[in-house]
Amino acid sequence: MGTATVVGGGVIGLTCALELARAGHTVTVLSADPVEDTTSAVAAAIWFPYAAAPIAPVLRWSAESATTFAELAADPAAGVAMRTGNVLERTAADRWWEPAVTGLTEVPAAELPDGVVSAARVTVPVVDMVIYLSWLAAQCRTAGVRVTRRHVTDLAEVDGDVVVVAAGLRSGALVGDDTLAPLRGQVVRLANPGLTDWLIDDDNPAGMTYVVPRFTDVVCGGTADLGAFDTAVDPDVERAILARARALVPALADAPILSRAVGLRPTRPQVRLEVLPGARRVICCYGHGGAGVTMSWGCAREVARLAG
Ligand SMILES: Cc1cc2nc3c(=O)[nH]c(=O)nc-3n(C[C@H](O)[C@H](O)[C@H](O)COP(=O)(O)OP(=O)(O)OC[C@H]3O[C@@H](n4cnc5c(N)ncnc54)[C@H](O)[C@@H]3O)c2cc1C
Repeated sequence: MGTATVVGGGVIGLTCALELARAGHTVTVLSADPVEDTTSAVAAAIWFPYAAAPIAPVLRWSAESATTFAELAADPAAGVAMRTGNVLERTAADRWWEPAVTGLTEVPAAELPDGVVSAARVTVPVVDMVIYLSWLAAQCRTAGVRVTRRHVTDLAEVDGDVVVVAAGLRSGALVGDDTLAPLRGQVVRLANPGLTDWLIDDDNPAGMTYVVPRFTDVVCGGTADLGAFDTAVDPDVERAILARARALVPALADAPILSRAVGLRPTRPQVRLEVLPGARRVICCYGHGGAGVTMSWGCAREVARLAG
């Protein structure tokens, strides 16, 4: 096998690097930012294919990743847990994601919050990104991957028989693609009062809401502002998120705030996972929207197959 350079050190870049190294490539990751400053570090991160297309490959990559995350849940060092929760539906259900999960049940009508017409109950992986990204980086190191801080302005400056473009929202500048757009998301993390069940209430009339208990914290969100680049935390938005989350989960009423964050989900009409035409093998792997963690293992394995 030859050399491979991955541009991007978020969850997509690191997972691609690990799979390429496991396939026998000599891998270098070039990342403009430390991993804790990436969008990946902001992710909730619940396994759920949100804001990503097209459906068929998204389901395939998501299902493959779910299997791997379920295995990782057995390793306390990985920061992954299998958690059960409810997807609340305020209009007719559109469970396009259902083929990627198993064991879905209906929440009894008597247990539905006001304004909710139905809800799907399902067990999926939940990932504490602080623990997981550091675990992933350690796995990369063990597999021989070299991670270097470097901002790439032109792919021609990058060595490697294979180059993987996994630079999230900023991938477009490297390959002349102007179809990426940020979907801004704000979260606030509370001390976990002992919750394990999560909930997703995307169509809440007061604003999209999710509550994702990890281990020591509970991630409450959220927002989805298309085209917004501002990464400053908005205190009014935070107050509104907390009000919605506490209305649905009263156990959070007195939970202290641990931290807050804003991230820009890298959205694109379609996830881009393909080889560019040209003498050298350049593989694009970006545009994962609100589901980069959810699809990471499936996409990374496809990248490793495309790398040959
Ligand atoms: C509030 C919020 C909640 C979310 N919740 C979930 C969730 O519950 N589940 C889920 O699956 N997903 C979730 N997501 C989405 C998920 O975070 C993203 O899909 C994912 O992080 C994208 O990963 P990435 O590696 O492509 O990009 P990033 O994490 O942004 O990483 C990009 C990398 O590329 C590097 N880079 C960029 N440009 C260059 C350059 N020119 N040269 C060198 N390096 C460069 C950066 O330094 C960085 O290392 C959420 C996102 C947000 C904002």
